Amino acid sequence: MDRANNQRDSVDDKRAGDRPPGVVLDLRWLIFTLVVLSVLATLGNSLITAYRVQRDALVEHALQSNSAYAAKVASSLSEFIRSAQSHLHYGAVELGKEWGNAKELRAEAMRLQKQDADFNSIAIVDVDARVLEAYPDTLQIIGSTLLSDAVQNAIEARRPFISPAYKSAAGNLVVFVSEPIYDSSNRYVGIIGGSIYLQQDNALHTLISQHFYHTGTFAFVADQNRHLLYHPETSRIGETLGWSKTVDAALRGESGFMAVPNYKGIPMLAGYAQVPGAGWAVVAQQPREVSLAPLKTLMDNVILGMVPAALIGFVLMWWGALLICRPLHQLSSIAGQLSAPRATEKLHHVKAWYREAFSIRQAMLTSVQLLQAKIGRLNQQAFTDPMTGIANRRAMDEELLGLEQAGRTYSVLSLDIDHFKKVNDTFGHDKGDLAIKQVAATLASYSRTGDLACRAGGEEFLLILPDTDLESANLIAERVRQAIATSDIPGVGRITASIGVATCVQAPTPADVVLKQADECLYRAKQSGRNRVESCLASTLQSAGPE
Ligand code: GH3
Ligand code: MG
Ligand code: MG
Repeated sequence: MDRANNQRDSVDDKRAGDRPPGVVLDLRWLIFTLVVLSVLATLGNSLITAYRVQRDALVEHALQSNSAYAAKVASSLSEFIRSAQSHLHYGAVELGKEWGNAKELRAEAMRLQKQDADFNSIAIVDVDARVLEAYPDTLQIIGSTLLSDAVQNAIEARRPFISPAYKSAAGNLVVFVSEPIYDSSNRYVGIIGGSIYLQQDNALHTLISQHFYHTGTFAFVADQNRHLLYHPETSRIGETLGWSKTVDAALRGESGFMAVPNYKGIPMLAGYAQVPGAGWAVVAQQPREVSLAPLKTLMDNVILGMVPAALIGFVLMWWGALLICRPLHQLSSIAGQLSAPRATEKLHHVKAWYREAFSIRQAMLTSVQLLQAKIGRLNQQAFTDPMTGIANRRAMDEELLGLEQAGRTYSVLSLDIDHFKKVNDTFGHDKGDLAIKQVAATLASYSRTGDLACRAGGEEFLLILPDTDLESANLIAERVRQAIATSDIPGVGRITASIGVATCVQAPTPADVVLKQADECLYRAKQSGRNRVESCLASTLQSAGPE
């Protein structure tokens, strides 16, 4: 019982092994998918690399530009201050020569204010901070004493002085630039100073606006106390900046660039520099996003440029996959029918253009040859009587079926050795076999091309004669009978045989009808004394049924 189960299990296993495991994928799609995935991965990688390289280049370029911009603004401001101080210095020298001359004071103040509009207003102040002259004197400060720290510090400094931003008595946010005045006896008598009103149109504004760089980039200027002296958002002028890496670096006297978030946390690309002479910080910056705006267009163009090439590439890849798979595909479909008659011819038609396909094709060709040789041998064995080497009953059935289907006429000789039992009894079974073989050989020697001699069983034989009428068949039967009767069988002597002949004259007559007729004739031959030929025409269409 166990053994039976085991056997059944092993059969089931074998069947499961024959089935493909799960979903069977198509090699063409596998290759295509693999190639497409690897191409997409490579393209993706290239795009990411291109994106990074371009992004870094844009960032680097923006940083360098902003650094150059900040340096340029710083140098312009420095030049402006140097020039303004030089104008004030000239005025101070002139005033010193004629100190106390009220007319001269007014003329000089007017000249300086109007000369090149460096300052919003000019004031001449004595060492006690009393305003001797002011132009324009819109606030009517002549005669008053200026108490602001900036003016006090300027007087105490006794040298060229630039104040930090401060709120004047009139409420203006101001930077005050001054020069000391020494009279003709080289006595320190006061200062001449110019005010820049930071929140009104002023020289700084004009100067920095000239350096307008490109969209999104702007500059701002802060003094040593981090007060904004200039900012494109004018409302922020005067504001004290909080923490700022760029301003701190510039105030330390450094120049350069850095990527930092601004006070709102927006990432900026900034350049910075210090204004020599004034010590102010100039920062030029641009939002990182604005700097990288061209990147999107650039990448869009790159991707758009790649699309046609990619499409052509995909078509080529599909074509390549087809080319690689075609031989394997053809070989696999032939593999299912290796025993088919035209398998060898089909295999020769497969274009195995690469080594692996070629090897598989060669192996399959060898298999087909071996298989067909084996099938041929098995067929041969299946249709041959092993003892006599002539056809057997199965071969005869096939032959008769073929004739019947083709609608051909034929004759049948049914031969039986006479008193064969006696041969066996007298000479032994081996000698009986020898007799059977010799009769078979005689029958075969009388069969023409297209005829079929076969052993129907025991000492009975049949000879099928296609397209042969009764007369000719009788003639052949008679010759066969005589040949048997006149041949010596070693160790046996002579034997005889009786033959019944039947002819199918009206096709299609069922083969069993013809055979039955031949057997009946044979029976008559036996009855009539043996060693003779009896014949008849098998013209009836009635099938031979059991009697
Ligand atoms: P008859 O046909 O003339 O009426 O007489 P018979 O003696 O030939 O009668 P039957 O056909 O009945 O006997 C055939 C004998 O052939 C019986 C059997 O022992 C013998 N025989 C059958 N096959 C073989 C074989 O392969 N070899 C040998 N040696 N004898 C066989
Ligand atoms: Mg017999
Ligand atoms: Mg017999």
